[in-house]
Amino acid sequence: MPVFDGHNDVLLRLMRGKIQPEKAFLEGDNIGHLDWPRMKQGGMFGGFFAVYVPSEEMGVDVDSLMARAEYDVPLPPVLDIAPSQRVTVHMSSLLIRIERASNGEVKICRSASDIRHCLDNGKLAAILHIEGAEGIDPDFHMLDVLYESGLRSIGPVWSRPNIFGHGVPFRYPSTPDTGPGLTELGFELVKACNRLKIMIDLSHLNEKGFWDVAKLTDSPLVATHSNAYEVCPHSRNLTDKQLAAIRESRGMVGVNFATSFIRPDGMRSDDTSLEDMLRHMDHLIEHVGVDGVGFGSDFDGATIPAEIGDARGLPRLVDAMRKHGYDEATLRKLCYENWIDVLERTWGR
Ligand SMILES: [Zn+2]
Repeated sequence: MPVFDGHNDVLLRLMRGKIQPEKAFLEGDNIGHLDWPRMKQGGMFGGFFAVYVPSEEMGVDVDSLMARAEYDVPLPPVLDIAPSQRVTVHMSSLLIRIERASNGEVKICRSASDIRHCLDNGKLAAILHIEGAEGIDPDFHMLDVLYESGLRSIGPVWSRPNIFGHGVPFRYPSTPDTGPGLTELGFELVKACNRLKIMIDLSHLNEKGFWDVAKLTDSPLVATHSNAYEVCPHSRNLTDKQLAAIRESRGMVGVNFATSFIRPDGMRSDDTSLEDMLRHMDHLIEHVGVDGVGFGSDFDGATIPAEIGDARGLPRLVDAMRKHGYDEATLRKLCYENWIDVLERTWGR
């Protein structure tokens, strides 16, 4: 079964790695969750490749913090624009260099037909995506340059605050209603994305930010990697009211494999069953519809169930979904068709 996926952090892993990034990705390095050989083994032909500017270490032991029954991970401070732009250019260029070194095997997709072409020809369909727009200046010069480089999707904030808005912290248990939403500049960014037909990713916005985008945007509402709050009451997950708005807009949710957003107890542990993931899928299908759910793995960005392990484990997940009772037509929608369709509705043909 072909799989298209809503979120990965492999570019961050490659930037920090010791092996030359194009080689590590194209030939495979068996580190983390994702490289092109392992993607092919798992049937994964494409997805969103996140450009994310990491913060300096704050001396907070996130692991022991999130091992508690309740937690609220402190967010890093606002980042300066110059270093953020350097990292944004660096990570974007990694994907461009991977495409260039791939002998036509990797394509940075700018349209839904680009993605279908990759699916039909055994190529990797990569979407250049920004998770947290710290590298975008208030006059949107960088936005223009990145758009021409293939950028087609932006999450205005990662959880950390920036000039565009306030994100949702990693808090359990907590609703996503954690603070103020978009700033005035954030509204301008949404309008600029609508003009360019760049997809807006709602996954790291808090609830106010979500509704700010929902009221303004003329595109389908998309959360690339989030789960159902009713199943796991984590601040990063979506309430039924949010899911109803996504459905109304003919939008989409990508099911996140991160165990802290899957497990009802919010714990970060790879000892998490696929049954727990299926509860989210059932809930999301019930509330968003069978055309509005897909995958948003968070590969290379999160602790995922050991049963999946890495990209090679996707067929095990698909098998579990089949045994759970999803028919073949439903599986195709969840595994890749819904993503291609919502991107076509967002980007145009
Ligand atoms: Zn994320």
